Amino acid sequence: MYNRRKFIRDTALSGALIAISKNSLATSNNTNQPIVISTWDFGVAANADAWKILSNNGKALDAVEAGVKVPEADIKNQSVGYGGLPDRDGIVTLDACIMDHLGNCGAVLALENIKHPIAVARLVMEKTPHVMLAGDGALQFALEQGFKKEDLLTENSKKAWKEWLKTSKYEPISNIENKLYDKAAPEKLPGNQYNHDTIGMLALDNAGNLSGACTTSGMAYKLHGRIGDSPIIGAGLYVDNEIGAATATGVGEEVVRNVGSFLVVELMRQCYPPEEACKEAVMRIIKKKKESTKNLQVGFLALNKKGEYGAYAIQKGFTYAVCDSKQQDLVIKGKSYY
Ligand code: ASP
Repeated sequence: MYNRRKFIRDTALSGALIAISKNSLATSNNTNQPIVISTWDFGVAANADAWKILSNNGKALDAVEAGVKVPEADIKNQSVGYGGLPDRDGIVTLDACIMDHLGNCGAVLALENIKHPIAVARLVMEKTPHVMLAGDGALQFALEQGFKKEDLLTENSKKAWKEWLKTSKYEPISNIENKLYDKAAPEKLPGNQYNHDTIGMLALDNAGNLSGACTTSGMAYKLHGRIGDSPIIGAGLYVDNEIGAATATGVGEEVVRNVGSFLVVELMRQCYPPEEACKEAVMRIIKKKKESTKNLQVGFLALNKKGEYGAYAIQKGFTYAVCDSKQQDLVIKGKSYY
């Protein structure tokens, strides 16, 4: 249970940490009612589908799966699912994971030709003794489960990749989705720019249970076979039903190095409010980095057992979407280091 008094009694806490807890920075729906939150502006449409389930007394696990399927199927979204930008060889490879309130989890890594990797990840969790399936094995499993092979490389993404091939420079640009997504027709997206961004979604249901899902096409023009943080339990996503849940977006290598989402949840266990937990995890990345973090983006999003939520990112521009019984299309600008 999230129990600050017990935690303070049982552990030797520093005065500073107690001060943070008392002076809670958490944003809350204040009702212990269902809530769903997700990364980026495109989280609004995803939350709407998740909310249909949560508001009908449904399970958080079903809600997060249904929710993230929205950007997975969205042809305009070039960083998740169908329409995602390919790797440097022109192949779209997708990463996804899902985790429930019992600590069950499933993931697919570098899955090709399947539009909804999150649905496959859920079946890895439910129908196999494993947590992760990668590449050809993940595809074979998906086909056995009845998924259909589809070409995920859209004309626009192919055009962008061909444009990129002219320079072949791998330089991720932070918050590219805010600069481009929905502000330009997909065909106008410049091919020599790098696109990334993930939908990470966290939900609390009526029964008080938490679940999370995370799905992405990863960093555009990555090396073939590159895996980011998004399908790695503890890095791109973590759920502990006693404490809370967290998810990450941004340059996955940095999130993996710091086991980011697990860290955020562990900080919440130490009574950090969600935003402070995300901030501390971001600071850990910044402190460890020898080079400048001026061009590096990592953002964390967290939800605790009480329905309090918060986020923090290295760069400005990280947004997240919140949906509960009071508001269905709220977009919040996350705080940031720079
Ligand atoms: N974290 C994702 C990855 O590294 C990309 C992103 O969220 O921007 O694959």
